[in-house]
Amino acid sequence: MRTEEFIQIENKFGANNYKPLDVILSRGEGIWVWDIDGRKYLDCLSAYSAVNQGHCHPKIRQALLEQSEKLTLTSRAFRNDQLALFYKEVCDLTHSHKVLPMNSGAEAVETAIKTVRKWGYETKGVVENKAEIIVCDNNFHGRTLSIISFSSDENARQNFGPFTPGFRSIPFGDITELENAITKNTVAFMVEPIQGEAGVIIPPKGYLKKVREICTKNNVILILDEIQTGLGRTGKLLAEEHEGIQSDLTLIGKALSGGFYPVSAILSNEAVLGILNPGQHGSTFGGNPLACAVARKALQVLVEEKMIENSATMGDYFLSELEKIDSPLIKEFRGIGLMIAIELKKTSKVTARQLCEKLLNMGILCKETHSYTIRFAPPLVIKKDEIDFVVKKIKDALFF
Ligand SMILES: *Cc1c(COP(=O)(O)O)cnc(C)c1O
Repeated sequence: MRTEEFIQIENKFGANNYKPLDVILSRGEGIWVWDIDGRKYLDCLSAYSAVNQGHCHPKIRQALLEQSEKLTLTSRAFRNDQLALFYKEVCDLTHSHKVLPMNSGAEAVETAIKTVRKWGYETKGVVENKAEIIVCDNNFHGRTLSIISFSSDENARQNFGPFTPGFRSIPFGDITELENAITKNTVAFMVEPIQGEAGVIIPPKGYLKKVREICTKNNVILILDEIQTGLGRTGKLLAEEHEGIQSDLTLIGKALSGGFYPVSAILSNEAVLGILNPGQHGSTFGGNPLACAVARKALQVLVEEKMIENSATMGDYFLSELEKIDSPLIKEFRGIGLMIAIELKKTSKVTARQLCEKLLNMGILCKETHSYTIRFAPPLVIKKDEIDFVVKKIKDALFF
C-alpha cells in the first residue's frame, strides 16, 4: 500500500482526534525510524519521551520476548514473580518507599488524585468532600475526564462537561500564588517540574525548592508529574534532582515502557500510598508480569548504558549549537538535558507546523506544540555527530 492509501483508510475509519504528520513509519532502531518507502528519519520526538532508550532496544526486546514465553497476565488476584522485583528495583533506584503500578500516564495521575484525597480526609482531617488540589495553568496531565477538568486548554475541555470539582489552577512558577491558594482543605499541589506540552516551560531557579518548603510547612502533598521529565529526559533520573528535593508522590510512565508496553507507576516517598486498602484501587493489567519485566529492563539499560549522563552532556551540546543560529524567525531556544524547544516569533511568517513539515522532508521528525513552539527530544542515546546533523537540518530549514 502507498502512503496515500494508508492515510485514506485512517481518515475513513479512524476518529479524527489527532493531526499527525503524513509519514507512515514501519521500522525503528535507536534514534532512527524508516517509512514504508525506506526513507530514514532521525526521531526528535521519541513518542513524547516514551522511547528514551531508543527504538526497539535489543535488551528490552529480549526481556519482552522471554517474559512473553513464560507468563503475561495473572491479574492481581494472584501474585507473579516479576512484581516484587520491579517494586524493589524501582524503589531502590528512585529512593521511594512504596510504589503502585498502572498502565498509562493518565491512570497514574488519577491514582494520585484518589490517593491524596483519601489521605486528606483520613490523615489531615479535611472535611468530607471538601478536598482541594492545586494545579498549574497550562498543565498537561492527560486526557481523562477528571484530568481535563483542571486543564486550561479550551480545546481539550470544550463540550466534555460536567467536570470533576475540587481543583484550583494557579500560574506556573509563581511561589506567592501557591502560598495564597493554599487553604485548610488543600491536600496536594500537583505540578510538572518542567511543563512539557506547554512548550518546555522551565520555572525560575529555586521554584521547586520553595514549593517543597511551602508544601511541607502547610502539610500539603507535593505531587510531581514526571511522566515526561522523568527517566533521564532532563539529564537526571528525575527532574526533581536539579533542585535537590524529593516529592511526596512522583508519577512516572512513558519511558518506563522503553516504548514497548504501556506501564506507569506512582512512587511514594512518605507513607501516602499506605492509605489504600484492598478493593479501593486497581487495574486488571496494572503490575502484570510482562509490564514488570519490560519496565525492569527499561530502567536497567537507562542506568547501565549511561543514557542519563548522555542526556545531560548531549543536551548541553545541542542547546549551545542551536544558540549559534542567528535567525530572524527565532524568539528563543530553551531546554534542559534533551528536552529542548525552539520558539518562533509570532510575527514570523512560518508556523511551527510548517517548519515541522519542512524538517520531515529533510529527514527529521519533530512535532509542534501550540502554534509557535517545536520540541526537540531525541532518544537519549543520540551522539554528537548526530546532533550536528540535526542542527544543520534545522539551520537549513530556517534559511530556506
Ligand atoms: C504524556 C503525559 C501524561 C499522560 O500520559 P498518557 O500515557 O498519555 O496517559 C501525563 N503527564 C505528563 C506530564 C505527560 O507528558
